[in-house]
Amino acid sequence: MASHRTPDRRRTALAVLACTALLAACSKTAAPPAAGDAAVHPAVAQAHAAVAKAADLSDPASFADAKRGFVAAPSGRVTDEAGQVVWDFGAFGFVQGAAPATVNPSLWRQALLNNQVGLFQVTDRIWQLRGFDIANLTLIRGRSGWIVVDALTSRETAAAAVAFARQHLGPELAALPISGVIFTHSHIDHFGGVLGLLSAEDAKARQVPVVAPAGFMEEATSENVLMGTAMGRRAMYMYGNRLPRNPQGAVDTGLGKAVAVGRVGILAPTVLVSQPEQALEIDGLRFVFHNVPGSEAPSEFTFSIPELKAYCGAELMSHTLHNLYTLRGAKVRDALKWAGYLDAALVHAQGSEVVFNQHHWPVWGAERIRTFITMQRDTYRYLHDQTVRLMNQGYNGAEIAETLVLPKALQDHLNVRGYYGTVRHNVRAIYQHYLGWFDAHPANLDALPPLEAAKRYVELAGGLEKIVAAAQKAYDAGDFRWAAELLKHAVYTEPKHEAAKTLLARSFEQMGYLAESAPWRNFYLTGALELRQGPPAQGLLREALLDMLQQTPTERFLEAMAASLNGPKADGVSLVINLRFRDTGEDWVLSVRNGVMDHRLAPPAADANATLSLTKPFFLQMILGKAGAKELLASDQTKIDGSVIDLGRFFTLLDKATGTFPIVQR
Ligand SMILES: [Zn+2]
Repeated sequence: MASHRTPDRRRTALAVLACTALLAACSKTAAPPAAGDAAVHPAVAQAHAAVAKAADLSDPASFADAKRGFVAAPSGRVTDEAGQVVWDFGAFGFVQGAAPATVNPSLWRQALLNNQVGLFQVTDRIWQLRGFDIANLTLIRGRSGWIVVDALTSRETAAAAVAFARQHLGPELAALPISGVIFTHSHIDHFGGVLGLLSAEDAKARQVPVVAPAGFMEEATSENVLMGTAMGRRAMYMYGNRLPRNPQGAVDTGLGKAVAVGRVGILAPTVLVSQPEQALEIDGLRFVFHNVPGSEAPSEFTFSIPELKAYCGAELMSHTLHNLYTLRGAKVRDALKWAGYLDAALVHAQGSEVVFNQHHWPVWGAERIRTFITMQRDTYRYLHDQTVRLMNQGYNGAEIAETLVLPKALQDHLNVRGYYGTVRHNVRAIYQHYLGWFDAHPANLDALPPLEAAKRYVELAGGLEKIVAAAQKAYDAGDFRWAAELLKHAVYTEPKHEAAKTLLARSFEQMGYLAESAPWRNFYLTGALELRQGPPAQGLLREALLDMLQQTPTERFLEAMAASLNGPKADGVSLVINLRFRDTGEDWVLSVRNGVMDHRLAPPAADANATLSLTKPFFLQMILGKAGAKELLASDQTKIDGSVIDLGRFFTLLDKATGTFPIVQR
C-alpha cells in the first residue's frame, strides 16, 4: 500500500504527545504527497549497511515476544460518527520484509515490531490490544468483569479495541462488563478514549472504580492548555502527520505506529494512589501500586499483581530509549529520578513472570525481565552521569551530544536504542535540566537572532550563489549537516531562492533516511515537505478535545488568556471585566493594567467596565474560536452589563494564534 490517505479534514490531523500528552487536532487542508527525493545518497546506503552489520536486526527474541499470545488481528478502518477515518489498520501495510533504502534498518526493525497488531494474551487473565492507537489497552479479568488499564487516545479507537476483544474472547468473557479503570499516567494517549468504554453516568451508577496516580486530573487536563498551539505545530513535525505513509514518508513513531485522531475525553478518578507504595483491591484482585511522579510523566504509577505474577511498567519502561526532552517542545525530564525509579522497579517486579507495558510488547521470564529493566536503568544512568561529568569539565550540550556514546553492552541491547528519544537530544536535555540555555560563552549571551546572523553570514560568504555552491559540495560529500547549516542561512535570507530550498529539502530527506529515531526522521522529512509546499493552511483545531476541556478548571483557560494578551497593544490600557459563570457559580474579576491581565476568584468588582455573564460551555466555544462577538451578543447563554464597547476592546487585546507559523523559513 503506497500511501495513507484520509479525508481532507483529517489529512493533517495532528495528535500531540505533550509532555507526552497528546492533543488531537485537525487541519482542513490536504497536503499532496511529498515530492520527496527518493534517490538515496551513497553515504546513506553506506551508513545503513554499517547499522545492519553492527547488530543482529533479525532479533528473534523481540519478534517472538511481539507475537506471543496472538489471538486475532483487526483489519479495515475505525471511523467516527461522521464517517471520518480515525484509524486505518492498513496504513502501514507496506512495512514488511527487508528495509527499503530510504529507512534506517534499525528503525525498520522497530517499525516491523510495532506492526504486530491485534489482541494478545499476555498471561492468565491478562490480554493486550496493540496497534489500535499509539499506546496499548490492557484488559485484566477481575472477579466480576474487566479491569481496563489505559484507554488509548480517542473514544473511537478505544471502543473498537474493546469491541474487538469481546468478539474474539468467547461468549462468556465477551459478556463481562467493565468493572474497573486504571489510568497509569496523565498523558492523553492513555486516557483520552475512556468515554468510548463507559460513560461518566454508567461509571457513577455502577460505582466502577477509576484508579489513577496522585495529581492525575490536574496534570491531564492542564498539560496542553497554555502551550497547546506551539506544541501542536511542532508536533506536526514530530509525528509526521503531514507525511504520506510510505517508505519515503512516515513508517512509525518509535513508540507505536501513529496517533489516532478522534474524540478525546476523560473520567475523573474515584481512587487516587497517593502513597509511594499502595495496595488496593480492584474487582477482587490485589494490585500493588508504585508512584513514579516526575519521570516519564508528572503523574504516573507502575503496579504489580502478585496473584497473576505480573508487573505493569506503565511508560516508565518501553522498548526504546524514551525522551528526556520531547522534540515537540516540553519541560525536560529528570534522568536521575527516572533511573532511580527503574532501580526500584527491579525490586517491585520481583516474583513476576511477565512485565507488560503500555507501549510495545511484554517481556517474559524472571531473568529476561531483570535484564530488560537493568538495561533501561543503566542507559538513563549512564547518560545522566556521563553528561554531568563532561559538563563539569566545561563541555556544552552540543559538544557532549557529539561525543557521548553508550557503552557497547548498552548499544547492543536493541531495546534501549534511540527509536523515540535519542542519546544526542537527551544529553542536551540533561545539560538544560541543570545549566539551562546558556553555555556561558559571552558571545552567546546576546548573540544576533537567527535571521540577522544569517544575512551577515551570506554576505560574508559572498552571496547566496556561493553558499548554495558550498552546500552542494557538502551534500555531494555526504556532509548533510553542514549543507543544512549553510542552506538554513540562505533560506532564512531569501525564502524564495528555489535552488537553496530544494537543496535544503534534499539534505533533510537524506538526514531523514539516515535517522534511527522516528521523530528525527519525521522532523527532517516534514521540514523537506514544508520547504517544497509551505506550512499548513490550518493549525490546531481543538474541538475534538471538548469532552476533556469541560473537565479543565477555568483558571487554566484564564492563564492562557492572560498569555495571549498583546502586551504592546495593551500598553496604557486599564480595564476591569467581571466574568460570571451562571452554571458553575464561579465569579472572576479580570484586570488589565501595565500590559498584564490578572484574574482573581472574587465577587464582581463594582468599578468594572463590563460584566459578562455566561456558561462554561459557551466560554469553551469562545476558547475554541467557535463563538465570537456576534454569538456573544446574540446568545441566550450570555448577558452583558456595562460597556459593550469596553468588553469589545478587551477581546481585541487578545491575540489569536493560528498554529501555522513557519519553521523552516523566517
Ligand atoms: Zn504513551
